Amino acid sequence: MKFLIVGAGISGCTSARLLADEGHEVEVWEARDHTGGNCHDEKVGGVTVHKYGPHLFHTNDRKVWEFLSRFTQWKDYRHTVVADTALGRISIPYSPVTERQLGRSLDDDEIRELIFVEYSEKQWGIPWGELPAAIRGRVPTRRTDEDDRYFTDAYQGQPADGYAAMFARMLDGIPVRTGRDKQAWREVRHDCDGVIYTGKIDEYFGYSLGRLPYRSLRFEHRRSRERLPHAVINQCNRLPYTREYDHACFSLENPEETVITREFPLAHDPSNEPYYPMPFGEGQALYQKYKELAAAEPGTLFLGRLATYSYLDMWMAVAQAMVKVRGILNQQPAEA
Ligand SMILES: Cc1cc2nc3c(=O)[nH]c(=O)nc-3n(C[C@H](O)[C@H](O)[C@H](O)COP(=O)(O)OP(=O)(O)OC[C@H]3O[C@@H](n4cnc5c(N)ncnc54)[C@H](O)[C@@H]3O)c2cc1C
Repeated sequence: MKFLIVGAGISGCTSARLLADEGHEVEVWEARDHTGGNCHDEKVGGVTVHKYGPHLFHTNDRKVWEFLSRFTQWKDYRHTVVADTALGRISIPYSPVTERQLGRSLDDDEIRELIFVEYSEKQWGIPWGELPAAIRGRVPTRRTDEDDRYFTDAYQGQPADGYAAMFARMLDGIPVRTGRDKQAWREVRHDCDGVIYTGKIDEYFGYSLGRLPYRSLRFEHRRSRERLPHAVINQCNRLPYTREYDHACFSLENPEETVITREFPLAHDPSNEPYYPMPFGEGQALYQKYKELAAAEPGTLFLGRLATYSYLDMWMAVAQAMVKVRGILNQQPAEA
């Protein structure tokens, strides 16, 4: 069987590898001039820069960890985050460590006000009172132990020589066409038995039902000889950016000059990238209609963050691809 994979992010790369491992012919088409999607990183001077925002790998899924470990070794990176708040700089998520910094404990309402309200309003561009219960209900999170790591998953680490190298190994031996027009894959799909599509679902259907809402980001980078005192500093206040980070931290590098980035959330339009789906309210209602169209689309599997219109951590994208591609493999043997 021959499969066309549209999009070379972690969803597309995982699908391509799994299908190729089973003896299928696979070709990957990517609009950007590189593979890896939003997980892509690249060297700027002596520092590995996460081009589309910091990507920290974590999972409790052993199969996902073992799969990716075929293509990379891991640096033992311990991720912590601090936040600038009305009560000063504190460690988050809220824990006994935070209480010691504050000199007292906070109740749930105080934690919500201090850490989540202004940050979430900036992130989504929606006043707190109008944010869906699904988002407001997620907070406040409170840890009761001394663990101040941002993630508590069993498996955590950063690819030893970067994400780009990991994806290059994953795609070893598979034809990849980068820098293609977003519609170009349609011209070759008739040569293929199946399509795995990881682009925007509304774009797939020519926006026939309207455009799905997304949040985008603007990154403001600067080179600096001075390091930030923390890997990531969240801004839980009225400053226009949500966080600032020092790229050298993520790969445990110690360059003469690092790159520091501030992240400014903004509405998505055709001139910028659709970073965060907004699967609530009107966004969710419209996605349900596209999902119905997708279910009736023969020969195409919709995978990943953009095609399933959901926020997926990296491990979730890999796990989703594993399950869905196994579904195809169970239906269709390679020699068919
Ligand atoms: C700022 C930010 C920080 C994040 N941090 C973390 C983190 O710390 N840890 C974590 O686990 N996850 C993190 N994530 C989530 C992570 O980025 C996603 O899990 C991952 O990118 C999903 O991969 P994907 O392949 O589904 O989508 P993408 O990475 O978006 O890849 C899709 C690819 O398809 C291409 N494409 C789209 N349409 C077409 C078309 N028509 N033709 C050809 N190519 C096309 C795109 O150019 C893109 O390369 C973060 C996300 C963001 C936005």
